[in-house]
Amino acid sequence: MCYHGYMVHDPHSLYKVDPETSCWVWLRTLSPQGRARLWRKGYSQLAAHYFYIEKHGPVPKGLELDHLCQNKACVNPGHLEAVPHHVNVWRAPGTKLTPEKVVEIRQTYAADPIDQTVFAARYGLKRAHMNLILTGRCWKHAGGPLTRVPKGPRQPFIKMTHLQVREARARYEAGGVTQKGLAEEYGVSPRHMHDILKGKHR
Ligand SMILES: [Zn+2]
Repeated sequence: MCYHGYMVHDPHSLYKVDPETSCWVWLRTLSPQGRARLWRKGYSQLAAHYFYIEKHGPVPKGLELDHLCQNKACVNPGHLEAVPHHVNVWRAPGTKLTPEKVVEIRQTYAADPIDQTVFAARYGLKRAHMNLILTGRCWKHAGGPLTRVPKGPRQPFIKMTHLQVREARARYEAGGVTQKGLAEEYGVSPRHMHDILKGKHR
């Protein structure tokens, strides 16, 4: 039966709750795009919008509704989240990472660096994976602004003995060795060797 043009008295009579998924499954015909549409007072709207607004209030400007349950026929407002368009596109099943998407992710995060777990979830990714993307440890050459790796535990600091310090200074003064070469030899950073030779350490 076509219900177009009907005045729907109780939109809540138009779905059935799936006991397993708790999805509110639309009982009426879906649109060609597979969406539940509600016809009221001579105009139609997405049923998902109707129930979302009823529960949460208006959809914030610029955002669209995403089905967290991935069931387009579901109109349960608890399964709907208002998200920016790119996030909605992103979450579509089967979306694969491309360099363009990686750049977009990095730009979005750089503009608004929120909690990475929350950010990752928006794209349906795990936090660890997102961190690799944001810091450039994966998709290294895709481009876009990289996020600095959060400071982890410091590198174990290799100490030079007094004798080694004196030796290194003497050798450097004698010439024929570079600071970098000495640093490598004694297993310290070039910066640290520089400081040692300048007399900053001991
Ligand atoms: Zn659902």
